Amino acid sequence: DKEALWSELSEKFRANTPKLSFETWIEPVKPVNFDGSTLTLSLPSELHRDYWEKQLAPNLIEYAFVLTKGNIEPKFVLDSDVKASTDDKSDIPEAKKKPESYAFSKEGHLNPHYTFDTFIIGKGNQMAHAAALIVSEEPGKLYNPLFFYGGVGLGKTHLMQAIGNKLVADRPDAKVKYVTSEAFTNDFINAIQTNQTEEFRQEYRNVDILMVDDIQFFADKEATQEEFFHTFNDLYNDDKQIVLTSDRVPQEIPKLQDRLVSRFAWGLPVDITPPDLETRIAILQNKAEIDNLEIPSETINYIANQVDSNVRELEGVLSRVQAYSKLKGEPITTDLAYEALKGLKLETKSHQLSIVDIQSKVADYFHVSVNDLKGKKRLASIVMPRQIAMYLARELTNNSLPKIGKEFGGKDHTTVIHAYEKIAEKIKIDTDLRKEITDLKKGLG
Ligand code: ADP
Ligand code: MG
Repeated sequence: DKEALWSELSEKFRANTPKLSFETWIEPVKPVNFDGSTLTLSLPSELHRDYWEKQLAPNLIEYAFVLTKGNIEPKFVLDSDVKASTDDKSDIPEAKKKPESYAFSKEGHLNPHYTFDTFIIGKGNQMAHAAALIVSEEPGKLYNPLFFYGGVGLGKTHLMQAIGNKLVADRPDAKVKYVTSEAFTNDFINAIQTNQTEEFRQEYRNVDILMVDDIQFFADKEATQEEFFHTFNDLYNDDKQIVLTSDRVPQEIPKLQDRLVSRFAWGLPVDITPPDLETRIAILQNKAEIDNLEIPSETINYIANQVDSNVRELEGVLSRVQAYSKLKGEPITTDLAYEALKGLKLETKSHQLSIVDIQSKVADYFHVSVNDLKGKKRLASIVMPRQIAMYLARELTNNSLPKIGKEFGGKDHTTVIHAYEKIAEKIKIDTDLRKEITDLKKGLG
């Protein structure tokens, strides 16, 4: 059952993890459910979830495999989700049992991995990185507030916490407060309910730097916005640094008070955009080095091409490949990475790949003409590329079988199915073919 499984797993972790890490990341975990293949674990914070997803999940899969000989996938939920959730409309729920004593958000912890050292600079984040560095050196002076915005998984939280980590390293007495906007909201609500608004203000206004992550979740939260407005003013007037992140510019956050929108624009709003290929490769190389992974550069390249718009997912893919290699007891190669990632729906900028793109790429690759791919010649040197092109059209586009047939010189949809199945079978045993397909996909991605 879940308790027994978790207790065995946690013993494995204990044996393989430094004490402090064990106490920080593993001890607080509670098993919620085990259905034979998925083990659901409840974690105290977003930070824990993040860390589990990126760092610990591969180990868990491996330990579970050793223990049960089965493939067990972990799933992570937050403690706060497990406890029945409250009212969704207003941010101040009616009545909640008064806790005996009340502690403010524990999310003040900074992830020690989120430093400037581990942050790879590329075109999309150069400006944000520079601004972060300046602010960490002279908080409250130049850019206040510093505001990062951009899509998920692009390093906003990492950069923000790098500022905090550097400040603490340089000045151990500095008061650094990091929270998500949800934690801020929860703290505020709890403070009201327990008559501790004074303590709340102490906690949030008596700091050298306040970092609030993902403020888009302030949308709709009237009372919290009000409180945050005053927090902001207090800190700002005291020349204390404020750093904020959001997935979009303040003007686009729904129901955000105008006076907050305008304040957020006082300092420096900087966007972070998705990393280019070169940066993605550098991120993977760096990660591989940190994790002591042996991984050929060709394989790094391959992986960097699989995900193009989210660093978190890029790292997730690397972890998956790593876990797969551990499970199989084989070194990481491009073939192994291909196997590990097959069937995954990865987040790539969805430029619509067309059948024509595929035909011309395949024709180039095999030195045949597009007309031959669309024609009826039965030469082996043409039939194989034709089938590969149909296979790729099926795999990489959303076109129906009849549509694909039509684009290949008006062939029947059964011809397309036949081609697809033939290649799908052959790929399993023929490494050369697999390599060709991988190359082609790379070229098309
Ligand atoms: P966001 O807050 O924008 O959603 P995060 O800061 O949580 O993104 O980043 C997601 C993951 O990607 C984290 O593990 C982070 O360390 C990593 N990451 C993002 N950008 C970089 C980068 N430029 N260099 C190294 N790691 C990065
Ligand atoms: Mg974040």
